[in-house]
Amino acid sequence: MPISVCDRLAELGEIGRGERGLTRQLFTEPEHRARALLARWGRELNCEVVQDRIGNLFVRRAGRSNAPALQFGSHLDTVLDGGAYDGAYGVAGGVSVLAELAAHGVETQRPFELAAWAGEEGSRFPVGCLGSAVYVGWEHLDEMLELRGDDGMTLAQARNGPYGLLPDVPIRDDFPRPAAYAELHIEQGPVLERAGVPLGVVTAIAGMHRYTVRVNGEAGHAGTVPMPVRRDAFSATAELALMLESAAREIGDCVATIGWLAITPNQTNIVPGLVECRIDARSTDPVRLKELDRRIHALAKEVAGRRSVRIDVHRFEERAPTPLDEGLKGILRETLDAHSLAYLDVPSGAVHDAMCIASICPAAMLFVPSIAGASHVGHERTAPADLERGVDAFKAWLLAIDRAL
Ligand SMILES: [Zn+2]
Repeated sequence: MPISVCDRLAELGEIGRGERGLTRQLFTEPEHRARALLARWGRELNCEVVQDRIGNLFVRRAGRSNAPALQFGSHLDTVLDGGAYDGAYGVAGGVSVLAELAAHGVETQRPFELAAWAGEEGSRFPVGCLGSAVYVGWEHLDEMLELRGDDGMTLAQARNGPYGLLPDVPIRDDFPRPAAYAELHIEQGPVLERAGVPLGVVTAIAGMHRYTVRVNGEAGHAGTVPMPVRRDAFSATAELALMLESAAREIGDCVATIGWLAITPNQTNIVPGLVECRIDARSTDPVRLKELDRRIHALAKEVAGRRSVRIDVHRFEERAPTPLDEGLKGILRETLDAHSLAYLDVPSGAVHDAMCIASICPAAMLFVPSIAGASHVGHERTAPADLERGVDAFKAWLLAIDRAL
């Protein structure tokens, strides 16, 4: 009787547990222990276990041919005080699939390779999807090794230290291109739960624009400057924020957030003279992203004119949406239909390793619901039945991809 995915997640979920949540940052003791556990699981299944020089860990089950592998996986690292399911579910679920195949003596056409990508969260070193970005060549290994973490240590020092690469696992020097890539993940949002649907076929990974906004007004005495002559930078920002919210609702299928804001001088008795804030705008549709961009600039101009303040908008980050592979999505929908499993097409507002891997081979994703949509928090949960169903569906999907490739 193979170990259930819930039991594997529970075991992983004890590693790095603190009072508020789970903390497993790349190349720290708990993250190292999580990788060691995965290596042990891999060996117990008589799979080949290898790692590469950035710390990605692979569990590979041979197929009938030695053709490029069908790859699947996610990540074992977490944010600070994160949850036990983000990333870990895709890895533990992958182990469960391999265990099922072994238990039933299933032979696959190609090798099945489970990947645990290193440092997806970017929570210690300042690059997200670090392992998968190096794997696909978006980032260079040597440059990344010079990255300095928030504790002052370089990635090279951390990787070569006691919690770096696993001492008993062989190193694979190249980054072989898989035949296809599939990722199983929790939704991290409330859409599936609210719809009462247990599975999500991910349509695309949202693109993102990020802006810094500087609103220059005029500071003054909160008691003496009359309302009609004020040039209050915060009131202008507040108006801009509400108008941006309306614009995003109006455009639809996009989100826009002001989650960071700094008021100068930030005193109770002074009319704010300067506000800096950041806008995070996302959509899976490049046209909507562009429309948001147009509106942000137009709204800034409008508010600045009406309130006699100066508003400078600067885009500092731009990432295009990642469409996921139509062929793989089609196979997934057929598989779910064949098993009479209900599903919904959903976009991914969050970034995943699949975003990088999609640049070297067909890639797609399957979501399961998150209770109350909670993620990146200690109380992140998915119902056990949903976890089990997700793994069953994922296994059927992988086998269907293997037959179709
Ligand atoms: Zn994740």
